[in-house]
Amino acid sequence: MTLANTCDVAIIGGGTAGCAAAVHLRRAGMQVILVERDRCGGGASGVNFGGVRTQGRNPVELPLAIRSRAIWSTLNELLGEDVEFDATGHLKLARSPADMAELEAYALLAREAGLDLTLIGPNAIRAEVPWLGAAVVGASLAPNDGQANPRLVAPAYARLARRLGVDIREQTSVTAARRTEHGFEIDAASATITSRLLINTAGMGAAAIARLFGEEVPLEAMMPNMVVTEPVPYIATRSIGVCGGDIYIRQIPRGNVIFGGGRGGGDWMDWRSRSSTETTLTNIPKLVDIVPAFRDALIIRSWSGIDGLTPDKLPVIGPSMTTPGLLHAFGFCGSGFQLGPVIGEILAELALKGGSSSPLDAFRIDRFTQPGLAAATA
Ligand SMILES: Cc1cc2nc3c(=O)[nH]c(=O)nc-3n(C[C@H](O)[C@H](O)[C@H](O)COP(=O)(O)OP(=O)(O)OC[C@H]3O[C@@H](n4cnc5c(N)ncnc54)[C@H](O)[C@@H]3O)c2cc1C
Repeated sequence: MTLANTCDVAIIGGGTAGCAAAVHLRRAGMQVILVERDRCGGGASGVNFGGVRTQGRNPVELPLAIRSRAIWSTLNELLGEDVEFDATGHLKLARSPADMAELEAYALLAREAGLDLTLIGPNAIRAEVPWLGAAVVGASLAPNDGQANPRLVAPAYARLARRLGVDIREQTSVTAARRTEHGFEIDAASATITSRLLINTAGMGAAAIARLFGEEVPLEAMMPNMVVTEPVPYIATRSIGVCGGDIYIRQIPRGNVIFGGGRGGGDWMDWRSRSSTETTLTNIPKLVDIVPAFRDALIIRSWSGIDGLTPDKLPVIGPSMTTPGLLHAFGFCGSGFQLGPVIGEILAELALKGGSSSPLDAFRIDRFTQPGLAAATA
């Protein structure tokens, strides 16, 4: 089969961000080619914890997270598939009075940004969440947060994109890209794709793509440690995080308990990551302190994945500052699964209208090289 190598928009990277952008652009009538090094959803988007969480985010990220949460409610309908989104609510736990003070302060900030959290103090926590252990002294509840199956979401977006007519080229790496007089040329295996616009959603590979256009982002590889247990009786009806972020836990109705925290290891240059036994052993007592009923659950699998971490722990989202027609969205610092659906919409808005209805100033790519911008973000 001869493939046409000319399109309106080329997308590098088939995680949730790239696949969601492909769907929205194709729906708007654009010819789209998406190039993915591995399989769509084979990167961080397919191996993450599955937390769909607005709570705990930097307030500058909340408008995006709140907008994305609204999309999650209708995602099955949009995708034509069930991605197992469950609005279980998210409890962020305090394990000390200082933690509780932190939750109270954050709840005030979050309210200003439009996110309502319910504080549960030491007297109420036992009655309201009886399955929590004595280590927990209080919590903040985001009732609309939830969880979903990460293995399903990006592939479902990719399948929809294909049905709509997006040309998805898997197991194909982009090795070079350049700006031309009319747009871009992108080298992908033996093909040279030409496009009017270029979207960089290459996850941990995105800094190398940005560098091709003279944009430096100090991206570090982040490999969270993940574990899943055998099914045990279903009691943890809410997704859980803690102040300090050292452990997070969710249980699915089938009974399996998924918990993460700390780092795994690996070599991102080879796209290899793995869990760390040491980290897992550190996490087990914390898990049991928080939900004592999980004491005897047997671990059946552990893994990690690779996400990009920026110095200010915020993503890069928006237009290139060097190259007209180039858009970036990467560096999601371990919390881009929840944002994926809105990132797709935002990239399509930027490509089609040149601007977004969501505030993106804090996510400018040049904030790392322009000290004034970095200070404003901080
Ligand atoms: C273990 C783990 C747990 C996490 N838990 C959560 C969570 O609970 N909640 C949450 O919101 N977020 C979580 N995250 C973060 C979230 O998974 C990511 O932020 C999000 O999936 C990033 O999506 P993406 O589409 O930008 O990138 P990715 O899913 O990484 O996709 C980028 C794609 O680009 C491809 N690529 C790279 N270079 C090239 C190239 N040169 N040519 C072609 N293709 C290329 C890669 O193969 C990859 O498939 C977690 C991340 C990890 C690793």
